[in-house]
Amino acid sequence: MDMISSKEWQRTGTSGVLTIDLAALRRNYRRICDTVFPARAAGVVKADGYGLGASRVAQALYEEGCRDFFVAHYGEAVQLQPRLQRDANVYVLNGLQPGIEADCATRGIIPVLNSLEQVTRWRAAAALHQRRLPAILQFDTGMSRLGMAQVEAEALASDPTLLSGIDIRYIMSHLACADEGEDEHNAAQAEQMARFSDIFPGVPVSFANSGGSFLGERYRGALVRPGIALYGGRPTDSLERPMEPVVKIEGAIIQTRLVPAGAAVGYSATYVAPEEKRMAAVSLGYADGIIRSLSNRGAFFHRGYRLPIIGRVSMDSTIIDISDLPEGDIELGTLVEFVGPSQPLEQVAEEAGTISYEILTSIGQRYHRQYI
Ligand SMILES: *Cc1c(COP(=O)(O)O)cnc(C)c1O
Repeated sequence: MDMISSKEWQRTGTSGVLTIDLAALRRNYRRICDTVFPARAAGVVKADGYGLGASRVAQALYEEGCRDFFVAHYGEAVQLQPRLQRDANVYVLNGLQPGIEADCATRGIIPVLNSLEQVTRWRAAAALHQRRLPAILQFDTGMSRLGMAQVEAEALASDPTLLSGIDIRYIMSHLACADEGEDEHNAAQAEQMARFSDIFPGVPVSFANSGGSFLGERYRGALVRPGIALYGGRPTDSLERPMEPVVKIEGAIIQTRLVPAGAAVGYSATYVAPEEKRMAAVSLGYADGIIRSLSNRGAFFHRGYRLPIIGRVSMDSTIIDISDLPEGDIELGTLVEFVGPSQPLEQVAEEAGTISYEILTSIGQRYHRQYI
């Protein structure tokens, strides 16, 4: 597929250009599959596929052999499921909220049951529908977020009627420190997971996220749940070869000006030009994922030139210093890079004082999107 030109972009009416490399996404998925084999890899596509389009992403992963898709909310599952083939499983991480049981059962969406109360309602739904209903049971191994405690696991295991009608696909848990490489907290969580496994012998385990997938066998179980690594983020500090970049984010030059010495730039006049400078307004702001903490610190790139962000990032535009660029190197409509070969996702995240996840999920809906 051809890349959009500056002139073409100007007619789209969009904030910028978001290019998503589905082939790279598929290679990242394949790499994870190869790494965790014989465990299988799901695709975590919550938050609209980390901002990249859940249905496009899931479809690409499906073609690469993925059959298990995790979202956070039931509404996300309802949107995604009809766009997938029938043999795809859609799981809801945040659990079974009251009132959706019948709809969830009818649609065949699979809840992650995070509490005894959710188990009770799913069991009742199974009785009502007179058939077994699939679920994942989540247990807390050291994050204190979602999932049941060991005593609750023991209670379930000691009275099989508590789980009657529930087809337990996996027991699962989530790692708190998987991005930090091999560490004690991960090890402790793996030990706790082994105890849950002893309580439910023979039930397949789903444990690792992206980071955990690269940490070693005891984190993998039968089904790993990578998200960020699919999208090109760094899964864990100990990984040498980075994942392939999937995302390119570009804004366009919409105005240029000579800013005289002493002129204030942007909201709150946080920057005053020390000398005459050439500046440009770029068509992206914090509503497009140019995180506001990049005010006066981040940069865009063009032909290898670093173009620093000047002043506060606005909602819909950002001012950059183009003084270093050879005159005539940019014109109105010229696309400048925010994330891409000159400035990888992780670097932007670091400069913004955040994580790649937040950059991606802040992308928003205003871009011209092209999938390649
Ligand atoms: C978001 C999430 C994942 C994916 O995490 P990554 O770090 O993006 O790989 C896996 N499991 C659970 C429970 C999650 O909430």
